[in-house]
Amino acid sequence: MPTRNVNQPRGHTKRAHPTRLCVDNTMPDKITHWIRPGIRALSAYHVPDPGECIKLDAMENPYTWPEEMVDAWLQRLRGAALNRYPDPAARVLAGRLREAMAVPTGQALMLGNGSDEIIQIIVQTLAGSGRVIMAPEPSFVMYRMIAAFCRMEYVGVPLCEDFGLDLDAMLAAIAEHRPAVIFLAYPNNPTGNLFDADDIGVILDAAPGLVVVDEAYHAFADASFMPRLGEADNLLVMRTVSKMGLAGLRLGLLAGPSAWLDEFDKVRLPYNINVLTQVSADFALENIDVLEAQTTQITRDRETLWQALAAMPGITPFPSRANFILFRVAGDADTVFAALKADGVLIKNLNPAGGSLAACLRVSVGRPEENRTFLQALHSAIA
Ligand SMILES: *Cc1c(COP(=O)(O)O)cnc(C)c1O
Repeated sequence: MPTRNVNQPRGHTKRAHPTRLCVDNTMPDKITHWIRPGIRALSAYHVPDPGECIKLDAMENPYTWPEEMVDAWLQRLRGAALNRYPDPAARVLAGRLREAMAVPTGQALMLGNGSDEIIQIIVQTLAGSGRVIMAPEPSFVMYRMIAAFCRMEYVGVPLCEDFGLDLDAMLAAIAEHRPAVIFLAYPNNPTGNLFDADDIGVILDAAPGLVVVDEAYHAFADASFMPRLGEADNLLVMRTVSKMGLAGLRLGLLAGPSAWLDEFDKVRLPYNINVLTQVSADFALENIDVLEAQTTQITRDRETLWQALAAMPGITPFPSRANFILFRVAGDADTVFAALKADGVLIKNLNPAGGSLAACLRVSVGRPEENRTFLQALHSAIA
């Protein structure tokens, strides 16, 4: 007996039509016909199952909260009105974020379901035929992917060998392609370095459209364009709470002139920041000293980890101002990656990306004991 939905009137029991359940051998043709080539050519953003591994692949903060803070948070959640739509402007949280992120007065703020969603909103708003999204390469892969989702042309400009911006190449590409928006991750992912701030200033002057400085790793970088908002009318600063220790909440923010943000806000879905995120992020930022102590610890441990990698024969770590370290291995990176995984340590293999990332692996800074386990596993993997 098929169960009936209680909301359905009697006599209207829903039943799948049998022919709809059959394997349809014209389906591949339909896929080819209806899914455009730009989407079919993509591979879905791959997130490996960590299993029992030590997870050092995704730039997460490895620390949890003190027990009394967890209790206070759970107490706060009691008051969350799950039966109501969230405040579409998330006013309480937005006020808290302004303070915590030192958004200059007079600059507008828009929140996103992670900064990934903000990238999507920006690109959707600017999308149009012949329009170009630009970013240095290698950089954060979502810029390229979201450009493809929105049928925008993507132009990647190769970084220099040291992963610094190739300013001449950037300026030439800007002159040729007149990009609607340039994304600059500051510090850059997956390379970890900070681009030269003066180079970014030159790019801001030369860009005909927007320049989004993506500060996902601001907590570890000790450098920011946030105080410079308003200096140029095309500068926007994007941040996220993910790498600070709240990746599970999905919350990002975009700060900049209201003339731009008012337009983006029209494209944003009204309730994109859910009630639990609004309450929890507000609570967490109220206790920002706990998060800051953790990110300070991570920044310190990054230096210890970097020194240990640099001392290892056949390993070349690149300078990092983020909570991860990119390093090149002298041997076969795929083999080293697999050996680490077999040893219970999951990091990120960038060798498949090729180009300047050939033979490169990326490790997130974990707890000191996790970092030591990783170093031991790496040591045996390259022995
Ligand atoms: C992790 C990351 C993001 C995405 O952050 P979410 O807020 O978790 O979506 C954006 N930009 C860069 C450069 C990142 O590394």
